[in-house]
Amino acid sequence: MQEDLFKRLVAHCKEYGFVYPSSEVYDGLGGVYDYGPMGVELKNNIKEYWWRAMVQMHENIVGLDSAIFMHPLIWKASGHVDAFNDPLVDNKDSKKRFRADVLIEGEIDKMNGKAEKEVEKAAKRFGESFDEKMFRETNPRVLEYTQKAIDVEKRLAKALKEENMADIKAIIDELEIADPDSGSRNWTDVRQFNLMFSTQLGNISGEEGKLYLRPETAQGIFVNFSNVQKTTRQKIPFGIAQIGKAFRNEIVARQFIFRMREFEQMEMQFFVRPGTEMEWYEKWKEKRMAWHKAVTPAEKLKFKDHDNLAHYANAAVDVQFDFPFGFKELEGIHSRTDFDLSSHSNLSGKKITYFDPEINEHYVPYVVETSVGCDRMFLSILSNAFAEEQVPDAQGEDSKRIVLRLAPSLAPVKCAVLPIVKNKEELVGKAREVFDRLKLHFLCQYDEKDAIGRRYRRQDAIGTPYCVTIDFETIENDTVTIRERDSMKQDRISISEVVRIVRERTDMANILA
Ligand code: ATP
Repeated sequence: MQEDLFKRLVAHCKEYGFVYPSSEVYDGLGGVYDYGPMGVELKNNIKEYWWRAMVQMHENIVGLDSAIFMHPLIWKASGHVDAFNDPLVDNKDSKKRFRADVLIEGEIDKMNGKAEKEVEKAAKRFGESFDEKMFRETNPRVLEYTQKAIDVEKRLAKALKEENMADIKAIIDELEIADPDSGSRNWTDVRQFNLMFSTQLGNISGEEGKLYLRPETAQGIFVNFSNVQKTTRQKIPFGIAQIGKAFRNEIVARQFIFRMREFEQMEMQFFVRPGTEMEWYEKWKEKRMAWHKAVTPAEKLKFKDHDNLAHYANAAVDVQFDFPFGFKELEGIHSRTDFDLSSHSNLSGKKITYFDPEINEHYVPYVVETSVGCDRMFLSILSNAFAEEQVPDAQGEDSKRIVLRLAPSLAPVKCAVLPIVKNKEELVGKAREVFDRLKLHFLCQYDEKDAIGRRYRRQDAIGTPYCVTIDFETIENDTVTIRERDSMKQDRISISEVVRIVRERTDMANILA
């Protein structure tokens, strides 16, 4: 059911110009997508929402736009050359390639799923008298499944940390994990695979000219720490925010724009006094969750602590969203210690420190990072907004609609202007007049083709929060109807009121507050 819904969402994205597969005339390019006319608007609005929430709303956060290409030693210092790997395994029969850890995580999900099934069955059986807590704590089967899931999760985390590829392979064999498509259990050994794309600089050949496409935007912030601190005279604690493209040679890029090889990140590195990082980590967890909850229902969001900390982190948590394929990472919040600044300082030989006038001390700041994928945010917003419903009192083709219930300030088009009929010059002239007035303020669409019901459906399908209809009464008294997308209710208002009303209701301040 959910899978089916996901397929329809992907099809909808293509049909209405949100997301197209890249290079489609050449049969596509794996893990790469293009954003269409509606997609680019929604994506820009998401970026604006993030930028305003982080930079505009915080006096102590400033922006940056660093280059994608950076000195190759940056990736040595950051640990990406040596440690930015995923464990890879090939199926010898199907010739398909998988991430070994993802295969095992899938099995863990299945074990937890079995435990949940037992709970559901018992809940049905016992009805009102069911004591769920007690059942979970005592039922042997539930205990067995959950304990097994915990054990495998721990063993996987340990193997990943120790880069013990043989044990990862052993887990796959012991759990008898099969290729999800072919069912074959004939696996190669598990190997490490570096996710960075490399290219060559100008006329320098060989290793010396080797450049990487950045796999995260964060390093551009770290190496500019001193520049930004000096030019802005920010005092710690302060942050640097950046939105930009990142590239990862993902072993398997599936699930549409959830896992891409070229994607966009919205990252903020917050520099703090050593010893205060956990306090800031907790604060940023809370703030980032509030940012998500302003546009996404709370029950679709949750925190998940990392079992396996990256080499640079002393605490890490994901904000997970309930995607059509389950709860998965949407944003990462990491306490990165002084790892990056110290590493760059060591390898470059340049001092990267901060003088703290309050305590009269020089130190290397600690860092708390918030990092959210713009494309995953896009997918979460769309999958949450996508609804197929029956329209009350409507007949035939018009009786069903697909509506994107987007927050009005994120919607690509804010208002559509529709003359009720197209062959009355007076009506069309008036509608054009209203449209010309509105387009000074927001992205609007003018549409006179097809019956009015059809035109409403088209706007619903792209999430336009307001439709203004010009009818015969407009000619008499300069009023129009304004239809609200979700309730489909129509009000009659004066033309002179349209800009104010649409502006107030689609203002980003509504979600920022
Ligand atoms: P995953 O475990 O899903 O591979 P990650 O832990 O490697 O993700 P981070 O390095 O923490 O991800 O990157 C921060 C954010 O960037 C993620 O929360 C996600 O939103 C986004 N992101 C990372 N990789 C991709 C990708 N391949 N495609 C789209 N977005 C991505």
